[in-house]
Amino acid sequence: MDNFVEHFTDEFKKIYFIRGARNGKYPYSHSLLIEDYLIDTGISSRLLRKLKRQFPINNVLLSHWHEDHTSGNRLLSNSKFFIHSNDKFLIENVDKFYEYYGISNSPAEEEFEWLWESFKLENTKIEKALTDNEIIKVGHDCDLKVIHTPGHTAGHCSFLELNSKIAFLADIDLTNFVFYAGIDSNLIDFEESIDKLLNLDIEMVATGHRGIIKGGKEIKEELIKYKSVIHKRDERILSNFPETKPILVIDFKGKNLIYKYYSEFKNYDIIAEMIMIQKHFDKFIKNKLIEREGKGFILS
Ligand SMILES: [Zn+2]
Ligand SMILES: [Zn+2]
Repeated sequence: MDNFVEHFTDEFKKIYFIRGARNGKYPYSHSLLIEDYLIDTGISSRLLRKLKRQFPINNVLLSHWHEDHTSGNRLLSNSKFFIHSNDKFLIENVDKFYEYYGISNSPAEEEFEWLWESFKLENTKIEKALTDNEIIKVGHDCDLKVIHTPGHTAGHCSFLELNSKIAFLADIDLTNFVFYAGIDSNLIDFEESIDKLLNLDIEMVATGHRGIIKGGKEIKEELIKYKSVIHKRDERILSNFPETKPILVIDFKGKNLIYKYYSEFKNYDIIAEMIMIQKHFDKFIKNKLIEREGKGFILS
């Protein structure tokens, strides 16, 4: 077995963790292989070709539409593809991605060009849409449950194999990089999705950008820590509200309220940060932490 293909335990030999290139760091991601079902295709073209030579991949479950999880779709043209109905339109229309990242006609478009071309994205035809709580029979021993966990994208799904209690959480990725900067992201849904996962019986987990974590208790602690990243951002944004002057999201532009440092994709990071701050504003309004005054918002 190649070193990028691993078992979770000796007990469940038909479930493999597939480690993505650069240890699953963007622009790559990790995958899960269960019999002839592959979850996500962003491990890198080189590794995916290798995997294809060793295992038949007849079915592909996509956790969501993002390019770092779907860039290998074009190499699996003989497989059947599945994705949640909320993300189906985008994976069938990859030219809409920029619009959904909020970067159409912005300086970030140019910044992304070389990287974007390297993905070689193509539209993917979806065989059937996935639905929440659906159980997919895989081989003789595996029952793979689809868990709709929206927030990161509207159709983001996690997957839980019920016999082994092994789960793949995709971009509820248990890193500090909690991302909800899509036009289709929703922060309230994101937190509810984390709560949904906290209530499941999971023994082992892998995510799109983090390797295997074992133990129900450890997994719960990681999920709580992950949620606390969002709460720290809530606090940082609220504590930057002036006492009396009404304020708008645009007033927080480029102030590093979410990203401590901007990366080489600075123009993009600033846009993503603004979109995420907007999602916090939406949540604050709903929870009556802020209210409209004149053209802006003040603390309630
Ligand atoms: Zn993603
Ligand atoms: Zn990702």
